[in-house]
Amino acid sequence: KVIIESIELENFRNYKSLNMSFDKNINILYGDNAQGKTNILEAIYLSGTTKSHRGNKDKELIKFGEEECHIRLKLNKNSTSYQIDMHIKNNKSKGIAINRIPIKKASELFGILNLVFFSPEDLNIIKNGPAERRKFLDITICQLDKIYLFNLSKYNKILNQRNKLLKDIDYNPGLIETLNVWDYQLCDCAKKIIEKRKEFIEKLSVIANSIHSNLTGNIENLNISYEPNTVIELFEKELEINRNKDLKQKSTSVGPHRDDILFSINDIDIRKYGSQGQQRTTALSLKLSEIELIKKNTNSMPVLLLDDVLSELDKNRQNYLLNSIDNIQTIITCTGLDDFVNNRFHIDKIYKIINGNVFNEN
Ligand code: ATP
Ligand code: MG
Repeated sequence: KVIIESIELENFRNYKSLNMSFDKNINILYGDNAQGKTNILEAIYLSGTTKSHRGNKDKELIKFGEEECHIRLKLNKNSTSYQIDMHIKNNKSKGIAINRIPIKKASELFGILNLVFFSPEDLNIIKNGPAERRKFLDITICQLDKIYLFNLSKYNKILNQRNKLLKDIDYNPGLIETLNVWDYQLCDCAKKIIEKRKEFIEKLSVIANSIHSNLTGNIENLNISYEPNTVIELFEKELEINRNKDLKQKSTSVGPHRDDILFSINDIDIRKYGSQGQQRTTALSLKLSEIELIKKNTNSMPVLLLDDVLSELDKNRQNYLLNSIDNIQTIITCTGLDDFVNNRFHIDKIYKIINGNVFNEN
């Protein structure tokens, strides 16, 4: 089990300086809008993944008017202590240290602090374009599998090189000779990515289907399936067939960078035809499945971050969610405590957030 013990912030977003501790079970951060609740979850997410869940650039995380900011997170994982330090600078790349030893690659951080982050924006995974679904897929698999992370960044590098070459050929036609080499490497790497995605989505679909059934009283049958842009056996051939088109467009038109995932309920494609509630429940099923997958794959419980999601769910779904967070450290943000009053739900730590200050209320 992973337990975040404390977080210290210095000049991060609207926090001048903060040092707060967390209970190993349920923590609530509540307060009015724009006070700094999500900022705390964002700092935790950064410590686990090196990136902002909102997709912000590093320098946007630094408090207005300051040059740099610091995050220090202390955690305990299966009885071992870790301290993760992050030093974010205005125009340089950030420094990260684990137990005071600087790391060279962000990937060294992966796997220490496993997180499941659920926010209203997760609705976008279902209803936005395929890029959003690929992002979900990649972030989730990367948390579980460092080899996938390696292959994915390699694929993206090769793809960029190939696209650059497609442009360069325009004024240096002789370069076309080298295209085969890139195609070969792209295929080799794509194969591993497609295989892993296929395997992962199959597992995810089984778990999500059962969670979704429970969430909807067995009314909705959720299916998740892989829509690969190309299959391994045909990829090389398709690159060849599309070569002239690629040369004209100066970009690679086939490959796993064009993959998608289909979400269907009772055989209806809910990316396009789902109601808001169906899409939201599916996002919830996805997140709860993520917990299961991390549990299975890493033999340890992730930390669950719930950003403002309770008020968006109906009573049944709220109850299901709150009941399923058993034995998992959870940090919940909300604007008020009303959602918990009627619930026999036990809260271990309550913090009120007011304008970049945190007050313990128990
Ligand atoms: P809501 O309930 O609306 O989601 P919240 O409490 O989650 O609100 P946050 O997103 O955590 O709010 O914090 C938003 C506040 O942080 C805003 O007032 C915003 O102006 C401020 N803020 C964001 N980035 C910075 C920054 N780089 N420097 C200073 N303040 C910032
Ligand atoms: Mg917020």
